[in-house]
Amino acid sequence: MIDVIIVGGGIGGLALAQGLRKHGVGVAVYERDAHRDDRLDRYRLAINPAGSRSLRACLPDQRWQAFLDTAGRPGGGFGFLGTDLCELVVVEDEIMYPDTLDPAERSYPVDRHTLRGILLDGLGADVHYGKTFDRYELAADGRPTAHFADGTSAGGDVLVGADGINSRLRAQYLPAATRRDTGAVGVGLKLPLNDDTRAWLPARLGQGMNLVLPVAPCFLFTSVFERQRPAGDDYLLCAFVARKDRFPAHPERLDGAQLKAHIGGLIAGWHPALRRLIDQCPPHDVSAFPFQASGHPAPWAPSRVTVLGDAVHGMPPAGGNGANTALRDAALLTRRLSQAARGELPLLDAIGGYEAEMRDYGFQAVDLAMKTLRQGMSSNLFDAFFSRNWFRLCDRAAPLRRMTFGGSWAAVSAPREWEREMAGSIPAP
Ligand SMILES: Cc1cc2nc3c(=O)[nH]c(=O)nc-3n(C[C@H](O)[C@H](O)[C@H](O)COP(=O)(O)OP(=O)(O)OC[C@H]3O[C@@H](n4cnc5c(N)ncnc54)[C@H](O)[C@@H]3O)c2cc1C
Repeated sequence: MIDVIIVGGGIGGLALAQGLRKHGVGVAVYERDAHRDDRLDRYRLAINPAGSRSLRACLPDQRWQAFLDTAGRPGGGFGFLGTDLCELVVVEDEIMYPDTLDPAERSYPVDRHTLRGILLDGLGADVHYGKTFDRYELAADGRPTAHFADGTSAGGDVLVGADGINSRLRAQYLPAATRRDTGAVGVGLKLPLNDDTRAWLPARLGQGMNLVLPVAPCFLFTSVFERQRPAGDDYLLCAFVARKDRFPAHPERLDGAQLKAHIGGLIAGWHPALRRLIDQCPPHDVSAFPFQASGHPAPWAPSRVTVLGDAVHGMPPAGGNGANTALRDAALLTRRLSQAARGELPLLDAIGGYEAEMRDYGFQAVDLAMKTLRQGMSSNLFDAFFSRNWFRLCDRAAPLRRMTFGGSWAAVSAPREWEREMAGSIPAP
């Protein structure tokens, strides 16, 4: 039997807790939020096939079904638009991800808050709220004890840091693994989708995902979230991203109205519907966050302490891979720790195997996010001229669309060898 302590009850930490529980491994989650619903994180996440496959592996059947039941309406493609709203190209969903009948190999729009609720369901008293991790200590035999800000502590066989991009656990365990400022700031906004807003919203913005590309170091990403069951509470998630010198110092300290006014100034020459979109997003749903990315750490020797998700491979949300990669970590670490619990692998080999594989796909995802961010913010006139004309050609010819965009989304989420072996279910102990 192995007892695992997880610090951080976000997407990755909770998926790991579900997975370990499903396989009979003892688990306790320590989360700094005081209550289950402290976090009002109602924004859309794009779950790609790697995320779906990992959720299928970690969740018991009825919670996997709950995930499928609460996912948003799929489809709508990915549009690349000019600031005058001309459609440069719209990439169909079948080009973004291979078409398949297997629900665990598909992509889904989900509401983060709903997903977190599904990940919490059934964990009950295994999640301890109001526990801010402070530091850990290792006993002579290597067993970890986590200490919390309220003076309490918890001991176990393995300690997992799933405490997000500003991870305190990573700072202690891997002090050389630093984060860097990407030089970009994102502002998240949400427009409720109802009869009133749909009446003036241009049709393309009411579908799928879109990227509005000016020839300037900024872009606007939009993404529709429409519930299938129960209907209602639909919204358009928007993220305005710009080089940080386009914002005043400390944009995260500005309130929603100030941020909207500032963006309004930056997009003064854009299509009136885009200006209206920003203008009509309720200010209480607007916040700015400087984008950070983890640097590549040198490989480290495994111990009974490990890390997952943003805590180790934090990335800007450009390309939508942070949560998907955290879920992949949870599925892989579940697999390795349950193999160790069954006596099939020595514990440190299990953790070391997880870390070697995680560093490989995790930092590929960080690099891809940085590349996507740089491309989106390019203000190079030559690049812009070339890419816009190429997109227009792609729009006219499906083979060109397939050639240009076919690999970019699918490659990062294609099954790796261990995921093929897992094929949707990890053998029970
Ligand atoms: C607007 C936006 C859109 C996004 N869209 C996408 C998308 O479409 N697809 C995608 O894959 N990703 C997306 N992401 C990124 C994604 O949300 C993150 O990568 C993901 O949540 C990381 O999961 P995690 O479990 O590593 O960390 P988190 O989900 O951040 O969880 C960390 C948890 O640790 C807790 N914690 C922190 N410090 C402590 C402490 N000291 N003690 C105890 N607990 C602590 C926090 O309270 C939190 O609950 C988006 C992000 C944003 C902001």
